[in-house]
Amino acid sequence: MALLLLSTAERGEVWPRVFAEAGESIFVGEASVADPAAITHIACWVPPQDLSVYTGLKTVISVGAGVDHLPPMPAGIALSRTIAPGIEAMVRDWVVMATLMAHRDVPTYLAQARDRLWRAGKVTAASARTVGILGMGRIGRLAAAGLGNLGFRVRGWSRSGTPVDGIDMFAAADLDDFLRGADILVCLLPLTAATRGILGEAMFAKLPQGARLVHAGRGAHLDMAALSRALDAGRLASAVLDVTDPEPLPAEHPLWSDPRVIITPHVAAQTDAREGALHALTVIRAVREGRPIPGLVARERGY
Ligand code: NDP
Repeated sequence: MALLLLSTAERGEVWPRVFAEAGESIFVGEASVADPAAITHIACWVPPQDLSVYTGLKTVISVGAGVDHLPPMPAGIALSRTIAPGIEAMVRDWVVMATLMAHRDVPTYLAQARDRLWRAGKVTAASARTVGILGMGRIGRLAAAGLGNLGFRVRGWSRSGTPVDGIDMFAAADLDDFLRGADILVCLLPLTAATRGILGEAMFAKLPQGARLVHAGRGAHLDMAALSRALDAGRLASAVLDVTDPEPLPAEHPLWSDPRVIITPHVAAQTDAREGALHALTVIRAVREGRPIPGLVARERGY
């Protein structure tokens, strides 16, 4: 088994050390591969143009948590997304921070501070607000636990509605009921054909008046113009965004200067190079031993 890594200079330095310790073969960059047929795994953000030369290829590993940037894989090649507990905890932390900011009216107070304006609004207890999380996967469940510990009522929405301890769960078909009670809406969905543009006019219209949006999924989940309209109409009170469409958000985009919006530049999490390498090793070993592939992505589910 041999892995080809196509990624950043940092990963190019760290991964060979991790692979050497584990006694596994790694090639960094296509130019280093003399015999493409010997490559069994490719870890990358952008895959090679022509995968057909890698005749022994078994898996492509996304070096990120998502796979929405990758094209469909040819038949017989499995796709794995990086499972990294460190990244998941970082996103949980960002979501907790952003939810607290939305809950405690930080966008308003930041705007007031720029005008040196001391004006106190009403403070609401966490227990009086319901946070609704779209996407109750690995990260959604972590975020739900963190927010529940702070006293928020938490509800979750997923395709299956699979029960989660202590959380009011809603399945895909029950979206309207879920939205009706979400004072703060958090998006932690993967980007798929079914979820692209989901944060738009129709969804915002079903939220309680003055709801808040926290978005750490992918930029293309969000209709940015619909967000502006919902803010102007008072339908939404504020938004805290880690992801935008496009990224980077152009300097002239109106949301930069909207006092109701806080934007961070896709920094909820950043992959730790060592953690990513360890994930790739677990994939290689699972394939070698015929076990289920960690982070396996089922294309037929729309990823
Ligand atoms: P998972 O695959 O573990 O979970 C995805 C969840 O979304 C599941 O609950 C799934 O439901 C649900 N879901 C998927 N499609 C639909 C749909 N059409 N309708 C309703 N629910 C749906 O993903 P993770 O928790 O690991 O990651 C979630 C996302 O977080 C990533 O895809 C990425 O977009 C984002 N992310 C952002 C980062 C950042 O820096 N901002 C960093 C890392 C991740 P079910 O289980 O029932 O299928």
